[in-house]
Amino acid sequence: TPDIRRHMERLAAEGIDVVRVIYPDLIGTDRARDVLLDHLPSACAHGLAFCKAVYHTSPQGDVVPVAGGLDAGLPDITVRPDLDTLVSLPWEPGVACCLGEVTDAATGKPAAESPRDLLRSVLARCAEQGLRPVVGPELEYFLLEPAPGTATGWRRAPEATGAVYTAGLRADPGNHLLRTLRHLRDLDLGVITGNHEFDGGQYEINLTHSDALDAADRAFRFKAAVKELARREGNLATFMAKPFGDAGGSGFHLHLSCETADAADSRNAFDDPAGAYGLSATARHAVAGILAHAPALAALANPTVNSYKRFGPDTLAPWLIDWGLDNRSAMVRIPPERGSGARIELRLGDAGANPYLLIAGTIAAALLGVQAGQEPPAPLEGYGYDTARASLLPMNLPAALDALEADTALTKVLGKDFTASFLTYKRDEVERFERHVTDWEFTEYAYHL
Ligand code: GLU
Ligand code: MG
Ligand code: MG
Repeated sequence: TPDIRRHMERLAAEGIDVVRVIYPDLIGTDRARDVLLDHLPSACAHGLAFCKAVYHTSPQGDVVPVAGGLDAGLPDITVRPDLDTLVSLPWEPGVACCLGEVTDAATGKPAAESPRDLLRSVLARCAEQGLRPVVGPELEYFLLEPAPGTATGWRRAPEATGAVYTAGLRADPGNHLLRTLRHLRDLDLGVITGNHEFDGGQYEINLTHSDALDAADRAFRFKAAVKELARREGNLATFMAKPFGDAGGSGFHLHLSCETADAADSRNAFDDPAGAYGLSATARHAVAGILAHAPALAALANPTVNSYKRFGPDTLAPWLIDWGLDNRSAMVRIPPERGSGARIELRLGDAGANPYLLIAGTIAAALLGVQAGQEPPAPLEGYGYDTARASLLPMNLPAALDALEADTALTKVLGKDFTASFLTYKRDEVERFERHVTDWEFTEYAYHL
């Protein structure tokens, strides 16, 4: 088609000879195929075949079944390049990258386990209510350097301790952050700022806000890019929730507001100078929905067995299902800005979450609150980790998965096929974990028992 020809000509003129097509799998890993430019038209026409499995990337490299996956003989899914998302990789001359659209090879319909399509379907429900969610992602991660001979083979740079909220060589001996920021800017990811976070070797990079799908795409590409850039320097960037027992975890804070979908009268539907706390009824209902569905939402926002080790009193990560005005010890914080900046900050998610699922789940919970006209309890004042004042989040992945399964209002919005795939995959993960004998068990028991 003329459209593909136009892209081909532009890519050739820019010296691009390979297009990397990436898509998020169920757990948010960037699955990819490099396509030689000559084959791009055929990839667009017929799609690229991938198999309908999720792999976990541990050295065991086992294929993990999703519903209708291994048990159905690992059928194909088809991934078509979305050329409107093409951008050249600033660090790899000759290579451009774009997102792939996933369809089920058998039916040609969106695949049930396609996180992008899940988010699209949730956003369509918002549009029916006249709402267009706006999201700003904020992600933390650890940068690790090789440590041969240690148990994991990686460690935090020892120089980078005690550098909370600083930048420059004191915080970042290898100047990793500056290089990363510049590359991410050239990738057009809407990066605003970067800094060293609370713990040694931990960084945070903030992305600007935009339409929810675009924000999810940018957060997904951001994680893939940060990991790739670290790898190129022989390091490991990890977004896992809690890589070290003696350091804080990595959060994926989500800033959420809503524009009214009416283009002629587009305004922030969360703002209302006359409303309680300067928030609109819509904003308060959204908070109430997020609180009501938090145990189920945790399955998407905190999707690993490791995620639950990040929660805890005095961590700046949440512990209880609560909300507060500019209160960082609460699960939902309302930042002080009002007017066009009126928004919710959900601090529940950890950086290991699949951005599409975290964003879809959060918006679905908020939407349920809006549809039900739910009111939240009074916002928490002061210390947010007092168990006498609010109920606890699920304290492990099995509890969160059970809460998701039991939350039929939420799973109805997410769809039963998606929910089945997600639960199958995650329960398999729990089972593998529970069978694993840890070092802790050996040292705790082997000598005394
Ligand atoms: N690292 C904290 C978390 O796990 C957040 C720290 C902060 O407020 O930036 O969510
Ligand atoms: Mg932070
Ligand atoms: Mg934050």
